Amino acid sequence: MPNLRLRGHVCLVTGASRGIGNGIAQALAMEGAKLAINYHYSENEAGKLIEALQGIGVSALAVKADVSREDDVEKMFSQVEKELGKISMLVNNAGVSLRALFQDTSVEQWDQVMATNLKGPFLCCRRVLPNMIAQRFGRIVNIASIWGLRGAACEAVYAASKGGLIALTKSLAREAAPSGITVNAIAPGPIETDMLLHELDEEDRNWLAEQIPASRLGQVEDVAAACVYLLSKDASYVNGQILSVDGAWNA
Ligand code: NAP
Repeated sequence: MPNLRLRGHVCLVTGASRGIGNGIAQALAMEGAKLAINYHYSENEAGKLIEALQGIGVSALAVKADVSREDDVEKMFSQVEKELGKISMLVNNAGVSLRALFQDTSVEQWDQVMATNLKGPFLCCRRVLPNMIAQRFGRIVNIASIWGLRGAACEAVYAASKGGLIALTKSLAREAAPSGITVNAIAPGPIETDMLLHELDEEDRNWLAEQIPASRLGQVEDVAAACVYLLSKDASYVNGQILSVDGAWNA
């Protein structure tokens, strides 16, 4: 009998149509969770994931929402609660990057990055918490970034959004711990997804891999495994922590 560590839990993963979120959703499903897959534009990709999960008997639902919009977030949570049940686990993964010289960054770009990467998790945490508090149980994992810990030239706004998410994680962990809720973050190093492919050409990616002590870029499975751990019972006394998944790059 396999040990399904998340059996019976309803998990919402934001930005699960592609990349890291997609990998996390698959890993949580393999641990017995019921999955709500949030997407914004990539309806086809989300649909394919749902088909694959339902094909192996997983309860899964795709929900369209822009996590930066309060009305979208409200509709998403209501739909998931109606169709899958109360959400006991939330993974705030949806995010956008921005590579630009600081002085060339517009106010609109600042607003867009902050809205998705920081306001999104704020809205989702605020919506999920009352039920978690009532149940005296909840698990939240925020996908931050190594840049939120150390900063990054030409990615100051992105780094600031992830630094804010790290502060939010630590603060909410302190506030919610008495209610049996853990709030942790993962700080991935460079992970091979569309986001990275979009920003760096092959030469730059190879150069980057050489800078990492593990001698390779990260894969979505590396982040997904860390997320499963933080959501599992094994991590019930791990709270307010930022788990780097970066091949010792930031060690
Ligand atoms: P990705 O391949 O570009 O995928 C981004 C995902 O976020 C997509 O599913 C996208 O949905 C969703 N998304 C974006 N804006 C959204 C919004 N407003 N509302 C709902 N969903 C939205 O990126 P990734 O590399 O997997 O990154 C996932 C997370 O990891 C991000 O928070 C990122 O900052 C973080 N991270 C990534 C790396 C890396 O090297 N890749 C490193 C550190 C941290 P649609 O396609 O449906 O629009």
